Amino acid sequence: MGFHFETRAIRTGSEPDLLTGAVIPPIYATSTYRQEAPGAHQGFDYSRADNPTRERLERALADLEGAKYAVSFSSGVAATAAILTLLSPGDHVLSSDDTYGGTYRLFEQIYRKYGLTFSYVDTSGLRAITVQESTKLLWIETPTNPLMKITDIAGAAERKGSALLAVDNTFASPYLQRPLELGADLVLHSSTKYLGGHSDLIGGAVMTNDTELHEQLKFIQKSVGAVPSPFDCFLVHRGIKTLALRMKAHCENARLLAEFLHDHPKVERVYYPGLSTHPGHDVAKRQMCDFGGMISFELQGNVPRFFKHLRIFTLAESLGSVESLANHPATMTHASIPKGERERRGIRDQLIRLSVGIEHPDDLIEDLSRALSNQRSATEKTSDRSLSADS
Ligand code: PLP
Repeated sequence: MGFHFETRAIRTGSEPDLLTGAVIPPIYATSTYRQEAPGAHQGFDYSRADNPTRERLERALADLEGAKYAVSFSSGVAATAAILTLLSPGDHVLSSDDTYGGTYRLFEQIYRKYGLTFSYVDTSGLRAITVQESTKLLWIETPTNPLMKITDIAGAAERKGSALLAVDNTFASPYLQRPLELGADLVLHSSTKYLGGHSDLIGGAVMTNDTELHEQLKFIQKSVGAVPSPFDCFLVHRGIKTLALRMKAHCENARLLAEFLHDHPKVERVYYPGLSTHPGHDVAKRQMCDFGGMISFELQGNVPRFFKHLRIFTLAESLGSVESLANHPATMTHASIPKGERERRGIRDQLIRLSVGIEHPDDLIEDLSRALSNQRSATEKTSDRSLSADS
């Protein structure tokens, strides 16, 4: 039997350095490698093609997703672009209608120009997944950003026909959910988020069990050149050693905060798959081992004033780090989706997304409680009026 997740996260790709015995292998900060004779090298010739620090990280990433292969990129969107580069003009992509805004922007504003076509459906209802002959890629995000919709991955795999099924697993992390085991062909991560876990890098990765897809992705990685630096590879690799510990704490904190928000009179609606009232709760329970650290909710009240009163949650883009972050999708992460389309998808101006960190939950609840009470002072009354989304 193989080792448990926690052990593999710490051990795979982290074998001590053969030359010196260093327990933490060195970062290979090199662009190129000496050759004995033309073409005679020790497996590495140029760091855009391969680098020992990246190779160690890719072994670790593959192992965590239960994959044969992982290919890493300089960002999550570069990883998404690599998957789209597998396609040809005329190919159709069927996508979840609630995805990261940058994914939508990449689809609509970059790849549509190159002859790919895209349509969007609510994949949390499996019947909406109907592929055409030209559909070559089924793109699923679950849980989705920002509405936390859940798609049944095994059910989607049954409906994909001859298309490839790619799952953006960024919100769950491989600790909570492993789509390849449920029938996906490709898994994507923004390693900027839970894999790195400390808001100190930008990175992405694609995992697969398919040798041919892996070879194509390696070719795209080298030819397009959106590769992560050795330093960023080291940081992601260091981050994933504590992924299991962090995810347990994220999930526990998020569960407490979701319950608190659910009962709060200033909160209209909470989107968290761990709540039994969430429409995707049963599917999430089946395909994830816990419900993650992301919560969205609709505020009854003044959005700018809520953000203004937070002391621990930092108003910032991104997610998945040890520190708690708050985000306003309509003007931040999802601003690249035109307002009409955004509202059709259910991303209202009152929606707030929280990336629940691993600080003490009592402090986080107190922070939200203060911001939700958000009594105005006399001086705020005038300055808030122009920003107010609800007044
Ligand atoms: N996928 C999801 C679900 C995301 O939330 C993000 C970024 O927020 C991305 C992909 C893109 O990743 P990156 O910012 O690393 O390019």
